[in-house]
Amino acid sequence: MYNIFNFNLQNLKQWMKENKESEFRAKQVFGWIYKNIWDFEEMNNVPKSTREKLKKSFYIEIPSVARMYKSELDGTTKFLYKYRDGNIIESVVMKYKHGNSICVSTQIGCRMGCKFCASTLGGIVRNLSSGEILAQVLKSQEQIGERISNIVLMGSGEPLDNYENVMEFLDLVKAEYGLNIGQRHITLSTCGIVPKIKELADKGLQITLAISLHAPNDDLRKSMMPIAYKYSIDELMEGCKYYIEKTNRRITFEYALVNGVNDTKECSKQLIQLLKGMLCHVNLIPVNEVKEREFKKSSSDNIKNFHDILVDNGVETTIRREMGADIDAACGQLRRSYLKSKNDLKGV
Ligand code: SAH
Repeated sequence: MYNIFNFNLQNLKQWMKENKESEFRAKQVFGWIYKNIWDFEEMNNVPKSTREKLKKSFYIEIPSVARMYKSELDGTTKFLYKYRDGNIIESVVMKYKHGNSICVSTQIGCRMGCKFCASTLGGIVRNLSSGEILAQVLKSQEQIGERISNIVLMGSGEPLDNYENVMEFLDLVKAEYGLNIGQRHITLSTCGIVPKIKELADKGLQITLAISLHAPNDDLRKSMMPIAYKYSIDELMEGCKYYIEKTNRRITFEYALVNGVNDTKECSKQLIQLLKGMLCHVNLIPVNEVKEREFKKSSSDNIKNFHDILVDNGVETTIRREMGADIDAACGQLRRSYLKSKNDLKGV
């Protein structure tokens, strides 16, 4: 049995052909599943005999809502979704003036080991398939009753550590028969797997690349992110410049400010040195405190100072607005507390 969401139109046409069905049936089926009809029985323009064959070969995997939290402050909604194998992930929907944006997870858990992140505390369980990532968007659209027009790959997991599936997901996102969302409305965030950044650059997509930099020098970055042992900041910057050269897209550097660690004046100077003149933008994030970790958030004065120094020196910088502050929980924390409450920390 296959999850139908892992198929693209061409794959399903091929399947129809192999099963002695007309190829145009594939488009009809896609017409339904992308419009929240997740039962073959309800696809009334598809003949019964075809539906029977489909049911024998496919399941339609839409996760169930294990928990949902809605912010009273800004309408941000966090969903804990459960897949058919029982695994739990989280997705967040944010409402902006320009439309709804979703933050999707790309893996169950994560193996990158960043010191400040809750998603990685239990290591990785498995990759999500393209269809499983897609279903987060479809289910969320159904739940909020509105279209989602922006996608950020910034939930749990490292997208470039699940490269093939994430690329297939991006194809389904942009397909006219699929979500039909333009590439400029998609942001992929990575801790910096340099060879994959280059591979992505060669695809020439117009998506926004966000790099989780968090430190302006190798020693400090190593103390926060194990990936820094594998790729130096110089190598990372070379990868970023290659991406810009190939796509002409502005890169976002994410920098989570941790009190007394990476928010010093010296750090701001080094960061300016590193980024000055580059087609980029820095997004300062007040770090979310994670129960299991020791670090603390920078004070709002420090954050503002850090911001001003960068801007005064010609580095475009914004401070990320904290969304859904009342529903709490940094990346991966909801999933952990859910599993703990179920007394099941297997693989977490
Ligand atoms: N693995 C990818 C995407 C998932 S993490 C990446 O590393 O970019 C999404 C973003 O949230 C990253 O910038 C990550 O560094 C950041 N992040 C993780 N834990 C955080 C925390 N406790 N506070 C603030 N940002 C955090």
